Amino acid sequence: MFKGKRHVPFITLSEISPRVWITLSGCNFNCLGCFSIAKDIVGKPMTVKELVKLVEDSSRSYYGDLPKEIIITGGEPTLNKKYLKKLISSLRSSQIIIESNGYLLDDKYVDELIKAGLDGIMLDLKAFDEKIHKKYTGFSNKRILRNLKNICKKDINLIIKTIYIPGWVEEKEIKNIARFLSKLNPEIEYRINPYRPIKNFSREPTYSEMLNAYKIAKKYLKNVFLSKSCRRETLPKKKIKTWITVFPDGKMKRRSLNDYRKNNMKVFNKQEHS
Ligand code: SF4
Repeated sequence: MFKGKRHVPFITLSEISPRVWITLSGCNFNCLGCFSIAKDIVGKPMTVKELVKLVEDSSRSYYGDLPKEIIITGGEPTLNKKYLKKLISSLRSSQIIIESNGYLLDDKYVDELIKAGLDGIMLDLKAFDEKIHKKYTGFSNKRILRNLKNICKKDINLIIKTIYIPGWVEEKEIKNIARFLSKLNPEIEYRINPYRPIKNFSREPTYSEMLNAYKIAKKYLKNVFLSKSCRRETLPKKKIKTWITVFPDGKMKRRSLNDYRKNNMKVFNKQEHS
């Protein structure tokens, strides 16, 4: 990674509301079932200034205004701590949120991010059992659970997400996570997402498996949601809404969820054969 730069494959504009996702590539984890092409270093190295310009220019051109919400995702956005802090303090939006695996979100750093302007954290808690977590991601979850306890004490919006992965993260894991979270704050928002199969790793959970997981988590937590990997998918479809992908050179392309998945598969296949 270049000093002062992070690789950006694209940013994404929602067609529903002025919401922008910034994808920063590269990740410290190596999840066996990862479905993000941004786990690896892909895209163009960009300074914070260049990236903010891309966000603001494309948002103005598409919405006629700056975005109301910005979600910084990846890959893992905290990989370059200084970069993320600078990015948050340079972006102009009423809501700035990061999606993170939580590993690098220690107490001091979270305080710095809040000071820089961070409004919310969506933390992916992959598994509660340390052995499963280590086998799936390559890392212990002890640090993440510690970080999570600290974040809960702060004045910041927090959403915890777990992906239901048949054969890996099922009812028992969901129950243990929900019980752990209930001790921190029973009102915490907890989302359970179904796994999206890629490269024959596991399968998509059935409706009844998801419903069971929901009922189990509900015994411990007030705010449990079954959702998909992204909030836009949960909205009613009066007409089919899609995403607008904006590449680092400013080119825009309208992509449906299927287009996005097809494109990911092409990249995965290329990575496997290179
Ligand atoms: S933390 Fe997310 S991006 Fe990183 S390897 Fe795991 S699933 Fe992929």
